Amino acid sequence: MRNEFDVVIVGGGLVGLALARALAGSGLDLALVEPRPAPGELPADAAWDSRIYAVSPGSAAFLERCGAWQRLAPERVTRVEAMRVYGDGAGARLEFDAYDAGLRELAFIAEGNRLQQALWAGVREQEIRVFCPSTWTALDIAADRAVLRLDDGAEISARLVVGADGAESRVRVEAGIAMTPGDYQQLGVVANFSCEKPHHGVAFQWFMREGVLALLPLPGDRVSMVWSIARERGQELLALAAQELAAEVETASRGALGALRLVTAAAAFPLKLQRVTQFAKPRFALVGDAAHNVHPLAGQGMNLGFRDARALAEMLAERGEWRDCGDYALLKLVADNGAQVEASVGPVAAGAEVDLGAPL
Ligand SMILES: Cc1cc2nc3c(=O)[nH]c(=O)nc-3n(C[C@H](O)[C@H](O)[C@H](O)COP(=O)(O)OP(=O)(O)OC[C@H]3O[C@@H](n4cnc5c(N)ncnc54)[C@H](O)[C@@H]3O)c2cc1C
Repeated sequence: MRNEFDVVIVGGGLVGLALARALAGSGLDLALVEPRPAPGELPADAAWDSRIYAVSPGSAAFLERCGAWQRLAPERVTRVEAMRVYGDGAGARLEFDAYDAGLRELAFIAEGNRLQQALWAGVREQEIRVFCPSTWTALDIAADRAVLRLDDGAEISARLVVGADGAESRVRVEAGIAMTPGDYQQLGVVANFSCEKPHHGVAFQWFMREGVLALLPLPGDRVSMVWSIARERGQELLALAAQELAAEVETASRGALGALRLVTAAAAFPLKLQRVTQFAKPRFALVGDAAHNVHPLAGQGMNLGFRDARALAEMLAERGEWRDCGDYALLKLVADNGAQVEASVGPVAAGAEVDLGAPL
C-alpha cells in the first residue's frame, strides 16, 4: 500500500474536503485522514439539517470549482436577497438589499449535511487516498518529511501535513502551535421552523441585550434559527417543548414572521473566539477552525476556512514543480495572507460590521 504522499490533510470536515478537492489535479499526491465515517446518500426529501450555513457568493464559486456546488439540489438552496438587522432601541434598524447593490443575492443558505455529501462525492471522484474512518496516534515533523502514525500502526508520510481537524485540533497541539483560548460563554442554539408569513428571501437579525437572534430563509415557508445566547439561557431553550420554544422565538423576533412551528429539533454549539499564534511552520499548515474560530453572528467561519483552502491550493498549484510543497517560505506567504484576512474579519466577529455579500 502506498504510504508516501506530497500532502496529507488531517480532518475531512467541510474545509478539509474542499482543500482536498481543490488540490486534486495539481499533480500532488494527496491523502485525507478522517475519523468519522463518510456520510451515506441522503434521500431527496430528507428532513432539513439543523446545521445551516450562510455561504458567500465567493465561497459558492469556489465550491463550484471544487465540483460540489452544482451537486446541491437547487430546491434545497435559498438565495438571501436582503437583510434586516434590528437593535434593542426603537427604530434601530439596518437594511441591505441585493437589488440596491446590483447583486443577484447577498449570500446563499445551504444545509451542512448536503454540503458534506457534495464535497465527499467530489473527493471520491479524484485520485485522493482516503483513510476514513481512521484516527492517528502520533505526528513527527522532521526536516524532510512529516510522519503520521495511524491507529492501525501504519505510518504515512508527507512533505506537507495540513491540519483541518476543527476547533479542538489535536494535530495543531502535536505540531506545537499554541491557540489563544477565548470563550464567549455563549451557545449557538440552532433549529428550523415553518413560518406563517412569507420571508421573501430576507435574513433577519435581532441584536438584543441577551444575545443575537438570526432567522435565515430556507426554501418555502421555512426558516433556520441561530440564537447566540448566554450558556445557561441556551440550556433553558434546549429543554423547552417544541411549542414553548417556538413561542419564545416568536416573541424575540417580534412576530416578524408570524406564528412559528418547530420542524427540526434544536441543537446547540459552544461559541469560541480562538486565534493561533502561527498558521504554518516547516512541513505544516492549518486551515479552517483549526486555525481560527469566530462568532457565528456574521456567518463567516466556514467562509474564512474556504478562503484558507483556496489560498493554499492556489499557492501550491502555482509554486513550480521544483519547489517543495512543505517549504516554509511558501507556506508563510499563504499564512501571512491568512492573518491579514483574519484581521479584516475581526471587527465583523465583534459585531461592528455585517457583510454577507463580500466576495472572497
Ligand atoms: C451555530 C453556528 C453557526 C454557524 N454558521 C455559519 C455560517 O452560516 N457560515 C459560515 O461560514 N460559518 C458558520 N459557522 C462556522 C462553521 O461551522 C465552521 O467555521 C466550519 O464548520 C469549520 O469547518 P472545519 O472543516 O474547519 O472544521 P469542522 O467542521 O470542525 O471539521 C473538522 C473535521 O475534523 C475531524 N477531526 C476531529 N478530530 C480529528 C482528529 N484528531 N484527526 C483527524 N480528524 C479529526 C472531524 O471529524 C471533522 O470532520 C457556524 C458555527 C456555529 C457554531
